[in-house]
Amino acid sequence: MEEFRWYYPNSIEEAVGLLELQGVVPHGGGTGIIRGKLDRYKGLISLEGLGLDYIKEVDGVVEIGATATYHDVIEFCGAVCGECILVKSLSRAASTPLRNRITIGGSVAYFPIWSDLMGPLIALDATVSILGKNEGEYPVQELARNRSLKSHSLIKSLKFKRFNGFTYYYRAARTHFDYGSFNITMLASFDDGVFSDVRFVLVGSKAKFQRLAEIENGLIGRAPSDVDVPGLIGELYNSIEFHNTRIGSAEYTKSVALVEIERAIYASFKAMEGEK
Ligand SMILES: Cc1cc2nc3c(=O)[nH]c(=O)nc-3n(C[C@H](O)[C@H](O)[C@H](O)COP(=O)(O)OP(=O)(O)OC[C@H]3O[C@@H](n4cnc5c(N)ncnc54)[C@H](O)[C@@H]3O)c2cc1C
Repeated sequence: MEEFRWYYPNSIEEAVGLLELQGVVPHGGGTGIIRGKLDRYKGLISLEGLGLDYIKEVDGVVEIGATATYHDVIEFCGAVCGECILVKSLSRAASTPLRNRITIGGSVAYFPIWSDLMGPLIALDATVSILGKNEGEYPVQELARNRSLKSHSLIKSLKFKRFNGFTYYYRAARTHFDYGSFNITMLASFDDGVFSDVRFVLVGSKAKFQRLAEIENGLIGRAPSDVDVPGLIGELYNSIEFHNTRIGSAEYTKSVALVEIERAIYASFKAMEGEK
């Protein structure tokens, strides 16, 4: 039987070279890797020595290194802006010890259906920098759709423009620590009493993630008084579907999601009202 090996590269070049080995994959926080059988792998590449645990903001663009943890992001973004969407979402994920362990790169690569990271990143139009076989800079949505991009590749970092407008996050779960069944991210900007930018993402449906264009297009350019909210929710009825989830049946989960989407919209109306 072949011996299982750990690799501890000290440079990114060395780590990228190791990715060519069959059955050898990067190890971020290890919290996703331990969910499956370890005999799937011939070896793991520790990313700890690569200096990728940084977070920085230059000219309004935030860059997060792959081995920064959920906790690191909450701390960094929380110090800059209390309304940051990643602070709202990641501080609800898992537990304190796990948030100290889960990495951003591992979470983008793994993208579980309960992810509290991916909805906000999709709404923020984040891009992901990848090294190795599929080297390049990709929109996070593309990586989420095309999982083969991560084969023999290393997620180095991700980037997004800091968002300063209205932020809203809802996570459906039976208890605080339970895996979320679905989540909603809404980002919106207002200009002179109308919506100038709206980004609305649902994670956890059958499609795994969806940008809800019906809501975005139904709000942009309109004042709250001109929005037909029940009509918008009605339009969504046929475009979101769920499997049975931890909170209940597929049909029940859909009803909860539609109510929560409506609440998010009304919360944005209230925020716009508060700005006047
Ligand atoms: C009990 C429990 C509850 C959880 N609850 C939540 C929750 O509520 N919300 C939430 O968002 N998350 C939650 N998580 C975390 C989530 O399920 C994943 O375990 C986590 O996102 C994986 O990140 P990691 O850094 O541990 O990745 P790892 O386990 O190290 O890696 C996961 C996968 O990504 C690959 N990988 C790792 N780093 C890189 C990289 N830099 N480049 C390319 N590929 C890479 C690995 O090879 C592996 O295939 C929970 C985890 C546990 C154990």
